[in-house]
Amino acid sequence: MTLMTMTVKQAHLTVPLAALRSVSRQYGALSVLQDVTLDLHAGEFVSVTGPSGSGKSTLLSMLGLLERPSGGQVFIDGQDAWALSDRAQSRLRGETLGFIFQGFHLLPELSALDNVARPLRWAGISRTQARERAQHTLASVGLGARADHRPGQLSGGEQQRVAIARAIVREPALLLADEPTGNLPQALWGEILDLFADLHARGHTVVVVTHDPLVAARAQRHVMLQDGRLASDQGTRPVLTSPTGR
Ligand code: ADP
Ligand code: MG
Repeated sequence: MTLMTMTVKQAHLTVPLAALRSVSRQYGALSVLQDVTLDLHAGEFVSVTGPSGSGKSTLLSMLGLLERPSGGQVFIDGQDAWALSDRAQSRLRGETLGFIFQGFHLLPELSALDNVARPLRWAGISRTQARERAQHTLASVGLGARADHRPGQLSGGEQQRVAIARAIVREPALLLADEPTGNLPQALWGEILDLFADLHARGHTVVVVTHDPLVAARAQRHVMLQDGRLASDQGTRPVLTSPTGR
């Protein structure tokens, strides 16, 4: 698969691209995340694993600003995301974060092209320009020839690639994927994982939630959750050089 070169906005290396500070999340009396502190730096490729119900999806939704934490703070690009106005928070989410949901979440009545163009239209980009960029992004995930197909006319692997194209069309620095191989036959995992490796290589910081060790093995840093707590955090991180030592 050939990928076109893209420039991805990179946060300054000394400020974490995303950080959780003592984040907790409760649903009623149920404590789903407890006191999670985590720094993610630009250039990382991180896997998040843990048993079912350990809080993986909740952790990802905290990083993606999909839900407000019950306690603690979420920093994106150095900004305390829940202290921002709604408008500033939406802008930050749209410009910095790309989310790949478990189960694709494509709109069935729209073509692949229009699904991918939607985030651009929300950002105020003209229809013509949005469709041009969406076409380019679909081509970059190997789906240039499928742009006019609706999700129902595409295979599971193709739908996942459309979902990935939609997540990257605004070139977000941080790409968050929840079980991206979970709904696909194992024969297709390789091509989706290669795609994530390519996205990482072209500058996206990537966080992949998975319950599969083979998927996790593609990442360089491995975060493990157990009962809503950070149970381990291992692997390589980019070397950070900063005169202030931060
Ligand atoms: P994982 O992705 O690791 O399987 P989740 O983060 O989805 O775990 O969920 C962790 C726990 O939180 C589970 O027990 C789940 O049932 C519960 N949970 C998740 N979302 C909600 C919700 N909206 N309301 C109530 N409980 C929830
Ligand atoms: Mg989950």
